[in-house]
Amino acid sequence: MPATPATFYLRADVLAPWIARVFRGASCAEDEARTIAESLVQSNLYGHDSHGVGLVPMYLESMRAGNARPGQSVRVVVDHGALLTLDGQRGFGQVVARQAMALAIERAARHGCAVVGLHNAHHIARIGEWAEQCARAGLTSVHFVNVLSPPMVAPWGGTEARLVTNPFCVGVPHEPHPFVLDYATSAIAVGKVKVALANGKPAPAGALIDADGNPTTNPSVLFDSMKGALLPFAQHKGYALAVVCELLGGMLSGGEVQRDDKRPNTINNMLSLVFAGDLMCDPGRQRQQTAALGAWVKSARRSDPNQPILFPGEPERQTEVQRRRDGIPIAAATAEALLADAVRLGVTENPFAAARPM
Ligand code: NAD
Repeated sequence: MPATPATFYLRADVLAPWIARVFRGASCAEDEARTIAESLVQSNLYGHDSHGVGLVPMYLESMRAGNARPGQSVRVVVDHGALLTLDGQRGFGQVVARQAMALAIERAARHGCAVVGLHNAHHIARIGEWAEQCARAGLTSVHFVNVLSPPMVAPWGGTEARLVTNPFCVGVPHEPHPFVLDYATSAIAVGKVKVALANGKPAPAGALIDADGNPTTNPSVLFDSMKGALLPFAQHKGYALAVVCELLGGMLSGGEVQRDDKRPNTINNMLSLVFAGDLMCDPGRQRQQTAALGAWVKSARRSDPNQPILFPGEPERQTEVQRRRDGIPIAAATAEALLADAVRLGVTENPFAAARPM
């Protein structure tokens, strides 16, 4: 009997329309279904599989539970011109965060800057997507996000989970691609622990503690009530930034902070500072300074001569080039879960049948 392939490689232009059909089957309108699918596939193209199409079963489950609501738009709660508070009404994050950034861009064009709080959105996924939307409009942006889900991250000095992975993101316009710093404030993302578990591999050292607070590399401690926790990145520094994400992203957005584990699942709140850096100092000088910085940091002796020194945002672009050429890797278990949902929702095509297995 041939071995089951571990991984399929699918082209983005095959995967995205198929995922869109799955969301159509789940009662999303055509535009919404396409927006969600393209956003998830872009995360895969950038190498962030933890925020790619593997999330589809969870999103569909969220719809069934009433946590993700199709067909929503942001509702303006407070409008002070350059300051806006928006309610995402539990709409799909891919839709309501895009609307929130469109409003931020419009206000920043009028006032030079905008501070926009978006609360009560279903999962807004890869935060870099929102920084990139601002950067395409020539705007710099900073995003603080909290997550309302059962806690998974211990506070620094604690041995029990109290927070979630609260991402932080900064985007700066630049040609040909913006600089994008975009990461969770936990040592690693939860999705990466799930990947280690699914592949029977240990989690990286320094990322997890078990229920007694002892360091472990066993990824299963995080799931099925084994009561382990992720640690914050960079010790107290990551923890402090996670708290800032609670206060700005959770509280000032008009949303809620993490308080107990009886939270709705996968709700995001985000505070975005969006501004026209070009108005603050001469754009030509900015380009010169950026080029000088790049040349300077990249001139350092490398720890591995085969590994280049990169700017934030560059690894994603490199992965995208490779994945557009070779296809997006989808683990067999993920393909199986996606197909089961597709069949349930009346989508009969199977893109994996013609995919290149490895
Ligand atoms: P990560 O640890 O892979 O770090 C990614 C960031 O580091 C990017 O900005 C990347 O350009 C930069 N980077 C990586 N390698 C680099 C190098 N060698 N040199 C320079 N820069 C480098 O990210 P993560 O913590 O695993 O997060 C993955 C994704 O998950 C992010 O898009 C994040 O927004 C998302 N996320 C979302 C939520 C949510 O609730 N919506 C929660 C947590 C994380």
